[in-house]
Amino acid sequence: MDGMIERPAAFADLTGRVAFVTGASSGLGERFARVLASCGAKVAVAARRKDRLDALVAQITAAGGTAFAIALDMGDDAALDQMIRNRSDTVYHPVGTARMGSDADAVCDPQLRVRGVQGLYIADASVMPRLVSGNTNAPAMMIGERCARFITGRDRKTAAA
Ligand SMILES: Cc1cc2nc3c(=O)[nH]c(=O)nc-3n(C[C@H](O)[C@H](O)[C@H](O)COP(=O)(O)OP(=O)(O)OC[C@H]3O[C@@H](n4cnc5c(N)ncnc54)[C@H](O)[C@@H]3O)c2cc1C
Repeated sequence: MDGMIERPAAFADLTGRVAFVTGASSGLGERFARVLASCGAKVAVAARRKDRLDALVAQITAAGGTAFAIALDMGDDAALDQMIRNRSDTVYHPVGTARMGSDADAVCDPQLRVRGVQGLYIADASVMPRLVSGNTNAPAMMIGERCARFITGRDRKTAAA
């Protein structure tokens, strides 16, 4: 079989995307991996049979695509946990670990005060409720400046809310 299948007309250009395909050592999974590679995606292929995955990766690579193999039994929760711990990364823009908000689950309130802890504020990217659509450095600096105003009382109108 060719390394890649001709890109189906209905499929978008996936250049720059990463696709994770499980059960990729045979059948539909293998075929899907080839299609995604033909659309330009970098394809991570996972299955128990590493030897078959290596052959698939070699074929996709020879045809000009990008793929890499992960030996993984999807029915094995412990192996899945371990794989996620070993491979996942936050890359450049981690946010939201101390989300601000008005709901009970928010770590800090809209004035950046940590709920339930007197006098403690958070002023960094962790308070962003969601990842912003642009880069995070400028918003993080804005959060710092805003928090300084809350703490010094120079933003009394909002801080008093
Ligand atoms: C490789 C890379 C490239 C990036 N490129 C861009 C870019 O081009 N444009 C952009 O807008 N954003 C970029 N970012 C994102 C940007 O750097 C962050 O969004 C921003 O720095 C977040 O600010 P912060 O104050 O939340 O955290 P940080 O800047 O990470 O500051 C946290 C500080 O806390 C300190 N610290 C941690 N733990 C402790 C502790 N226990 N005790 C004392 N101090 C501690 C750390 O040493 C650090 O100084 C990039 C990030 C990375 C990693």
